[in-house]
Amino acid sequence: MSLLEITGLVKHYPAAAGGRSRLIRAVDGVTLAVAPGEVLGLVGESGCGKSTLGRLAVGLEYPTAGCVRFLGKELAACSRNELRAARRQLQIIFQDPAASLDPRWTVGSLVAEPLVNYRAGSGEEIKCRVEHLMELVGLEPAQAGRHPHQLSGGQRQRVSIARALALHPRLIVCDEPVSSLDVSIRAQILNLLRDLKERLGMAYLFISHDLAAVSYLADRVAVMYLGRIVEVLKAGSFLKDARHPYTRALLAAVTGFSPGGGIPVVPLAGEPPDPGSPPPGCRFHPRCPGAMNVCGREDPTLTAEESGHLVACHFAG
Ligand code: SF4
Repeated sequence: MSLLEITGLVKHYPAAAGGRSRLIRAVDGVTLAVAPGEVLGLVGESGCGKSTLGRLAVGLEYPTAGCVRFLGKELAACSRNELRAARRQLQIIFQDPAASLDPRWTVGSLVAEPLVNYRAGSGEEIKCRVEHLMELVGLEPAQAGRHPHQLSGGQRQRVSIARALALHPRLIVCDEPVSSLDVSIRAQILNLLRDLKERLGMAYLFISHDLAAVSYLADRVAVMYLGRIVEVLKAGSFLKDARHPYTRALLAAVTGFSPGGGIPVVPLAGEPPDPGSPPPGCRFHPRCPGAMNVCGREDPTLTAEESGHLVACHFAG
């Protein structure tokens, strides 16, 4: 059984513009699964809907349609108590720890908060667990009395990770966890996340626009464009086997590497279309170097090959 199963997930937000109301299609029919102990990377340009998908995956938002199942239970159908029990094992780390940590609290109380909320032990047991968690993420227990503003960006993200680990989660959604950090600190946090995953065995849904970070951590990579998943493939063959023109353009832009195969690779031009009025047919067709007439009329479905590689493109074969 998958740990997390996302089926036909849709999230539309009403928005007003020029006196007219319209719908922003942030997530528009996503199906994905994360297996126990797996790292699924989710990549795409800013605004493609990946952070919304992350919040839906942990039940912080309710879907417009479709469903999210964690350990077989549909989150949107859970009672308050069931959702609370699920959240114990389903955590999220945000991009900016400065915004997600209450500046009035000490590091020790921030790490202890989930344990206190869930009454996960006596005062002495919680104190010991906080020390252990701080050591686990590379913080000195002596830093427990400091406040977030007295820490570096990397140390603050370590506090967020310690909080996420406190209740022994099965899955952590990491939403751009290193994007706000300096390059050298970024590598340290990525190493920490990889080390923790190997030691503790939990799964990650690792959301990032940084393809190098995703390739380093992930077992599989899902590529998102304008609210849809357009390709899912093994991270190990990402460079070699990427088939969708959007994935190939992203790779070429970041690595300068031109993947093999017959599909032309052209750097991405312009901005993604407005998610309030996505193009008909294939949503990538206005920017796709390989677009043909059919692409503007017919929406390609995400189709699986025997290897498990999924691609949504009329000409991927
Ligand atoms: Fe490009 Fe057409 Fe494939 Fe869409 S379906 S990615 S427009 S070739």
